Amino acid sequence: MKFDPAKPAIHGETLDTLTARLAEIGQPAFRAGQILDWLYKKRVGKWDEMTNLPRELRAWLEENFDLEPTSFVLDRQSGDETDKLLLALRDRSLIETVIIRAPMLGVGVDQSRKTICISTQVGCAMGCKFCASGLEGLKRNLSAGEIVHQLMQVCRQEDVKTPRARAELASFDNIVVMGMGEPLHNYDAIIRALTIVNAPWGLGFGVRRITLSTSGLVPRILQLADEPLGVRLAISLHGATDEVREQIMPINKRYPLAELLPAVRTFSEKKGRMVTLEFILIEDVNDSLDQAEKLRDIAYDLHAHVNLIPYNTVEGLPWKRPSVTRQEKFADVLYQRGVSVTLRREKGHDIAAACGQLRLQTEKQRDDGMPVTA
Ligand code: SAH
Ligand code: SF4
Repeated sequence: MKFDPAKPAIHGETLDTLTARLAEIGQPAFRAGQILDWLYKKRVGKWDEMTNLPRELRAWLEENFDLEPTSFVLDRQSGDETDKLLLALRDRSLIETVIIRAPMLGVGVDQSRKTICISTQVGCAMGCKFCASGLEGLKRNLSAGEIVHQLMQVCRQEDVKTPRARAELASFDNIVVMGMGEPLHNYDAIIRALTIVNAPWGLGFGVRRITLSTSGLVPRILQLADEPLGVRLAISLHGATDEVREQIMPINKRYPLAELLPAVRTFSEKKGRMVTLEFILIEDVNDSLDQAEKLRDIAYDLHAHVNLIPYNTVEGLPWKRPSVTRQEKFADVLYQRGVSVTLRREKGHDIAAACGQLRLQTEKQRDDGMPVTA
């Protein structure tokens, strides 16, 4: 059937919106629950598989909703640890969804902890200088349904691979909203998507296991602090002074540290939970011991956790990651004051796992006329 761009993805509907839509055509409320059950519990891929629905209702659904808003393009694996799914949207835009496994000694791949990294936009408007996602600006926002469907694609991939996946509703342990895009720049869609992911009639996934990362849109951080949804928050800090931060993150001009840090404190206090400060280490940009000391003071003061991430090189950009010794020296400054800090061993470096890179490579190939296949 021809794709109709005006047709919304069914995965963007909540129990309430779907019930209301069905009421308009005289369908009883329990039908909405049945449909959501087919989507999230039984995970069917065709309307006709929803066998307890009347035939005319299935036809109406097919006419009015899109059941497959994303399609699988390729899965690039990096050892046992990272799977990067490249997905195509209906308008042929490409997005990335990453499965990161933390294998544990003595257990099979089935038992490893899995974190899923989802995208929220095609491209990004924030223009951070080090990031592949921002290089070509923002193409468009993802809809709530497109955001949720990434997780359905993950479930589908995992269903084939592991018995654990088949046995559970969502066979992963954490979701991080750290893929392509600035989630708080697509606020309504991400809130709706995470509400669906969390709801008992949706994926039933605990909000405490969801972390949203932002480059620091202050008014939206404050709005998020007032949402009932209790997701964890990570801030892309990447500079411990305005001078360093604004060199690499244009958003710092709009919302400098004097505004960002109090907003982080408000979030942390209102939600009663620790915020994570992400800090990519880039050689000769933000890896000095002076930056380490300032970061230490900020984290100590906010009672925040610090995640140090060695920079992942991006083709065409000049930035590099510092040596391991320098990374460790930087981390030591924080340890010594008792700040909670992790120095991340970057996963998937070899498969361009950082934000937006696989999509960029694939779009280049497509522009060069090369086929894009699995
Ligand atoms: N837009 C949001 C979330 C997506 S980016 C944000 O900026 O927080 C997720 C994380 O990946 C951010 O901390 C971002 O700064 C980081 N990142 C982007 N490019 C990177 C690279 N080349 N190497 C390491 N981390 C990168
Ligand atoms: Fe956008 Fe985040 Fe990349 Fe900055 S780091 S350009 S906010 S995706």
